[in-house]
Amino acid sequence: MTKRNKLLLINPLSTKRRGLIRDQQSIFPPMALGIIAALTPEHWEIEVVDENFERFTYREADLVGITALTSQVTRAYELASVYKEKGISTVMGGIHVSMLPDEAAQYADSVVIGEAESVWGTLIHDFESGTLKKRYQGNLLPLVDSPFPRIDLYHPGYVFGSVQTTRGCPMSCDFCSVHTFNGHQYRARPVKEVVDEFEKIPQQRVYIVDDNLIGYTKKSADRVLEICQEIIRRGIKKDWLCAASMNIADHEEVLHFAAEAGCKMIFLGIESELIDQLESANKRTNLKIGIAHFDEVYQKIHAHGIAVLGAFIFGLDTDTPLTIANRTKYMLNSDIDAMQASILTPLPGTPLFNRMVAEDRLIHKNFPEDWARYDFVEVVYRPALMTQEELTSEINKNWAKLYDEKNLKRKFLNALKKSRNPDAALWSYNSNLHYYNLVFENKRERISIIDQIYLGD
Ligand code: SF4
Repeated sequence: MTKRNKLLLINPLSTKRRGLIRDQQSIFPPMALGIIAALTPEHWEIEVVDENFERFTYREADLVGITALTSQVTRAYELASVYKEKGISTVMGGIHVSMLPDEAAQYADSVVIGEAESVWGTLIHDFESGTLKKRYQGNLLPLVDSPFPRIDLYHPGYVFGSVQTTRGCPMSCDFCSVHTFNGHQYRARPVKEVVDEFEKIPQQRVYIVDDNLIGYTKKSADRVLEICQEIIRRGIKKDWLCAASMNIADHEEVLHFAAEAGCKMIFLGIESELIDQLESANKRTNLKIGIAHFDEVYQKIHAHGIAVLGAFIFGLDTDTPLTIANRTKYMLNSDIDAMQASILTPLPGTPLFNRMVAEDRLIHKNFPEDWARYDFVEVVYRPALMTQEELTSEINKNWAKLYDEKNLKRKFLNALKKSRNPDAALWSYNSNLHYYNLVFENKRERISIIDQIYLGD
């Protein structure tokens, strides 16, 4: 019997996070690796090493594939170097290396730039014939007949499963590289394919990983409606979370069926409650809705028994201690249930990154080591109106206030009152705990809100 080629796929864990206890509720299966595995011919043996669960130990392979976000890439390069030194071919792909292929080429034999679907078959063929190229440029294909990720290769410990139903975004937010990587065209998968994949997910809880499930047209909203109705028609009972632009509130029928189909919480990229900051971030949808109408958005989502996860940024260029404190007040006093307040982070491929480089404002630029710091919980640039130390100290103070136990309990009770859905309220509470643990690096054990509330603490 001839020996099968072995493909080793690695999901690296950021060097900064190594050694910390991971919150199982906040990690998601490495979908890019699952897709690569699905694209690989059947005569290959495939193994996935997932550092979310196990520290990498060396194992034999004929070809090694690694994908990484910016904060993971330092570790990804370490692991790629291990195999490169042994003369084993390594391939890297994903959003970071697509933005900086020259950097990645120092550590990997081959770099896939862009989405891999259109080139992975060729890459494997080239490898088998001994003609692996240094670069492969992927094209943006229509999302029809997309291979289902090889979920059988994921670690069984994931609490959440995941599915992707669209790619691409017509917007150009200053801090985001999605449109650079996945293109400006909003590409959607057919309803049947999405629901077939959704149905196969073994976990009870699912994260729909689209950057924006709802999109900007009636056609895209109708597609979501059909997905939800098909989930209901098939009797699939799963709970899920998705991200959407704030205009999802314009589609009450979608919200109604989304709730019935298991949607528990919607992630909204709100970013700021100040018009000038939304303008400088080029957050056009939120500007169009108008800050005065944000409350209506939260109310409409709550009215269907779904919790609101609001994502905000600390450290925008016009931020001062006062504006940051006001943003915290806004988050605490509005009907947002789960509160994510991350630090402005210039990622390669974004207009923000290019501007920070041009203005020589990056503080941590000993790359690739410093990429691990680009994880949204560290100030890596010189702020415009404060020192780095002042901004860090202000953010720490505001995080402590946001995730204060009393505030989390208050948020939970408010979510319960407004959504009238204990499951949705619990999802939002768990998200707040996750963000607390992320920003304070697991320094506090999970508190049991249920015990405290019902014991009257
Ligand atoms: S932040 Fe959202 S809306 Fe803005 S470009 Fe990125 S994906 Fe599009």
